[in-house]
Formats: sequence, structure tokens, C-alpha cells
Amino acid sequence: MDRVLQIGPLLPSLERDMREHYDVVLLDDVPDGYLDEHGAEFAAAVASSRIGVDRALMDRLPSLRVIVNFGVGYETTDVEAAKERGIAVANTPDVLNDCVADTAVGGLIDVMRRFSAADRFVRRGDWTRGPFPLATKVSGKRVGILGLGRIGRAIARRLEGFDVEIAYHSRSRVEGVPYARMETPEKLAAWCDALIVATSGGAGTRGLVSAAVLEALGPDGYLVNISRGSVVDEPALVAALTGGRIAGAALDVFAHEPDVPAELLTLDSVVLLPHIGSATHETRRAMGDLAFRNLRNFMEKGTLITPVPEI
Ligand code: NAP
Repeated sequence: MDRVLQIGPLLPSLERDMREHYDVVLLDDVPDGYLDEHGAEFAAAVASSRIGVDRALMDRLPSLRVIVNFGVGYETTDVEAAKERGIAVANTPDVLNDCVADTAVGGLIDVMRRFSAADRFVRRGDWTRGPFPLATKVSGKRVGILGLGRIGRAIARRLEGFDVEIAYHSRSRVEGVPYARMETPEKLAAWCDALIVATSGGAGTRGLVSAAVLEALGPDGYLVNISRGSVVDEPALVAALTGGRIAGAALDVFAHEPDVPAELLTLDSVVLLPHIGSATHETRRAMGDLAFRNLRNFMEKGTLITPVPEI
């Protein structure tokens, strides 16, 4: 039976499928020094996207041929190091587009119409003392999408139903879409009423939503982030929110999860979600199935169903 190294907790049904077909060892369970003796026995690793496989771990797995990331974002896996070693890398794209896009649209409506704040208002008993303050209309507004990839396009398609005007910024122009491309994140932020961040994470997008982008979004502008916490300069965001230099934010991702900046916890202008973009039974099952099919396909045929584009 082939040996598979499991890195981090995975969906129980995926763990079950893996154990049925392979000799699975959970990295967290092995004693110190185990990989020095047994590292060469593993041809495959299946990793939670939160943890990934770094260069140091690859060095301890000299026979590794494939890494399957449970999740579409794989910035925690060192793809360059994998490429150097001829290790194939897979992720789980597309099957989560619907749920992550739903989360972005839900966050947008929540923060602009202030549903979460209004819910707290009712629970506190404040309604008996007077009406909830007026909020901001969503329909008909200008929405900027930073990163018009698979999820960004699914967000745009949903928003068409709200009669919003849509523009985007990605490094390259996206063909076949009716949305205007803005040359820079700053220009997009200056143009829109709400900026939705849907880029990939990793070094290439670190701090892309900078203090200057937030300044351009302005005191009436809203930010929604469903991509990665690293894409937004978090201290600059906290300063912009506490200083009223942007109107509000809906955040599913943070720079140091599960830690959320303390200043945000008391702000009614912020919707805080615990990284639940893809967290539905249906989508997680589809991600687990795709991860397992990648593993099985590679072990039996030497090819992946959804390899990452860099390799
Ligand atoms: P994708 O199809 O690869 O789209 C990524 C987009 O980001 C592309 O349009 C890309 O366009 C753009 N981009 C990358 N680097 C950029 C840069 N420096 N400046 C501007 N745009 C840049 O990926 P996807 O499947 O839509 O997923 C997007 C991300 O969503 C994932 O990587 C993950 O981090 C996040 N995600 C979050 C959750 C959650 O639970 N919240 C769940 C799933 C995914 P160009 O290459 O042309 O620039």
C-alpha cells in the first residue's frame, strides 16, 4: 500500500477515502525524528491549504512526487521548490466558486445595509428606544472587483442581478467580459463605491490593497475581502476604519487567522467572518472529492486532474 503523508486536519470524508486506499500517516502524530527514518517512504502528501508544504518539509521527503492541496489557494506550498524537485502540485479550483462568490455578495449586502449591526441592535433591545439608522443602497452602485479570476467572475455574474456597474483590475485583461478594466487598484478604488478583493494570495499580492488604495476608496467606500488577509495592508485598514476614512468592510480573511485585530471587534461598520467562504457541506464535499480524484489519478496514471498552472 502506498504511503501518503497528511498535513493538517482534512475533511473527515476525504480522510476516510484516503485511509481506505492508502497507508496514511498524519504529520502531527509522528514523533520527532520519524521523517529522518521514514521520509523516503512517502510518494504523496495531501495538505490543508492553511498549512501547505514548504521547502524544508520537501527536503525531508526525498521520494515525494505529488502534493495535493485541499483548497484553491496554494500560497502556503512552495511551488518553486516543488518544480525544482519535479513534484506535481494540485489544488481544488472551480468547485468552490459558487460558495465563495455567494459569501462576497452576502458580505457586500451585509456591510452596506448593516444587517449584522441591525441584528445586534434588535438583540440589545435598542429597537424599543427608536428606529435603526438608515443604511446605504446596494443596487445600482459601482462595484470594483480586484482579481477577475474564477471567483471574481462568479461574483460579477451574481452582481449583474443587482444592476450594479462593474469594473475590475487584474494584471492581464480578461477577454469576453463586458466589464471595464482599470489600470491600477488605486484607479479601480477611486472609481467604485465598493471594492471586492478576489485575487490569489501569496507574495505577488501582499499589501496590494494599500493605504493609498483605501484612501482612494474614500469615506463613502466599502471593502469586501474574500481572498486572503495578506492582500490587504491590515494595519492601514484598521486605521482607515477607525478613522472613518472608509465607510465599512466585510472581511472573511485576516492577516493572522484566527486572530482578528481587537479594534475591529467593537466596530459596527465591519462584518467579521471566520474564513467561511467555501464552508458548506456541499462545497467542502466537492473539494474533498476533487482532492481525492487528483491523488488517485496521480498514483494510478501519473497525471493530475487540476494541476496548478505554474508547473
Ligand atoms: P484565480 O482564478 O487564479 O483568480 C485570481 C485572480 O487574481 C486572477 O484574475 C489574477 O489575474 C488576479 N491577480 C493575481 N495576482 C494579481 C496582482 N498582483 N494584481 C492584480 N490581480 C492579480 O483564482 P480563484 O479560483 O478565483 O481564487 C482566488 C482566490 O480566492 C484564491 O487564491 C484564494 O486565495 C481565495 N479563496 C478564498 C476562499 C475563502 O474561503 N475566503 C475560498 C477559496 C478561495 P492576473 O493573473 O491577470 O493578475
